[in-house]
Amino acid sequence: MWILAAFGAGPLGPSEDGVTTLEAEDAAVDLPPCRETWPYDLEQLPYAPDLWFRLNPRTAWGTTALITTLESAANRMAMLYPDIDPLLIGDLSTSRGGPLPPHKYHFDGRSADVGLYGWTGDKEDIYRHGNGFPPVAPRQLDLERTWTLIESLLETGNIEHILLDQTHIDNLKRWLLETGRRTREEVDRTFPSSSTPRLWTWDSIVRPAVNHKEHLHVRVRCE
Ligand SMILES: [Zn+2]
Repeated sequence: MWILAAFGAGPLGPSEDGVTTLEAEDAAVDLPPCRETWPYDLEQLPYAPDLWFRLNPRTAWGTTALITTLESAANRMAMLYPDIDPLLIGDLSTSRGGPLPPHKYHFDGRSADVGLYGWTGDKEDIYRHGNGFPPVAPRQLDLERTWTLIESLLETGNIEHILLDQTHIDNLKRWLLETGRRTREEVDRTFPSSSTPRLWTWDSIVRPAVNHKEHLHVRVRCE
């Protein structure tokens, strides 16, 4: 809860425009802070239309570790799926970090919101106006591409955790087992139960969080 104390964040409610980017549940992920303090040494996620679309370039600043992690994952997706849409990237942090309401964990350039595969809607509207993440119903989620994105992020070795909607997690776990892409042990390591003792010491994991139906929240480890 140290972040709440540090930045005086209050209770969160639904956003007025209906764009779901709230992360009140992040407060439940009670992690020790990294060493660095404000102002943070951040760089802007570059313009790279072949790889991603930044919903808001002004809040697309992250640590070098976060930027290179996103680049690595996006490059792998583009290589594996040459016809794939560019990633939708939401908020990282402001240029020097600090509070970025309504988020709780986007203050230090270590977190990024990334859209899921399977969204439908007006691409022109998304790419021209950047109106937030389009919704992705459970049946719409592109399991293979979303899993490959998660795998690409985890394989960088930089990930502390990824937050995702519980229903999406359940569907991904079932799909991974049914298709034989992962063993039960591997699935349990990547998606550990929230009752796992000392879970806060684990990294490279995917955890459930409400309000993450259309994007996943990526957080890189302290360096
Ligand atoms: Zn987030």
